Amino acid sequence: MSTENTTINPTVNEDGEAIIVENPFHTARLKPKRKGKRPPKLLAVVHQSGCTGCEVCIQGCPVDSIELVPGPNPLNPQFNQTVEIDLARCIGCQNCSVDCPWETITMYEHDDAFTAWSSETLKSELYVAENEVEEIKKKIIG
Ligand code: SF4
Ligand code: SF4
Repeated sequence: MSTENTTINPTVNEDGEAIIVENPFHTARLKPKRKGKRPPKLLAVVHQSGCTGCEVCIQGCPVDSIELVPGPNPLNPQFNQTVEIDLARCIGCQNCSVDCPWETITMYEHDDAFTAWSSETLKSELYVAENEVEEIKKKIIG
């Protein structure tokens, strides 16, 4: 995976909606998605502008669905790092929301979480603008 941070700068379709897709090259895609047919009632979303990157939330997640987003300097990726939550794996247990010392993780109703993600997750490596997939592929494969 590229060490460069991926800032979401999505293309838009003809209706003006952002085209965001899963980053097929992120290592999280090798992890299992949540089991069960019914989606969780709640999902967690990180308000990244308040996240210090302390990693406390990561330790308490039972399904390993919180991912680090490196800071902007590839030579020092821990500086200004943040986290994001993979909505495809979150089971809504609320551990992270309770544990975050900065109270920057909010639990949303399942459908509302996807809208909140689009405004509160400012940088992502899990979900990227569709037009960035080829660029990421070139960085990894050459
Ligand atoms: S709500 Fe639970 S499952 Fe979802 S990201 Fe937080 S700790 Fe992980
Ligand atoms: S516990 Fe809160 S501040 Fe720390 S990394 Fe997680 S979301 Fe960010």
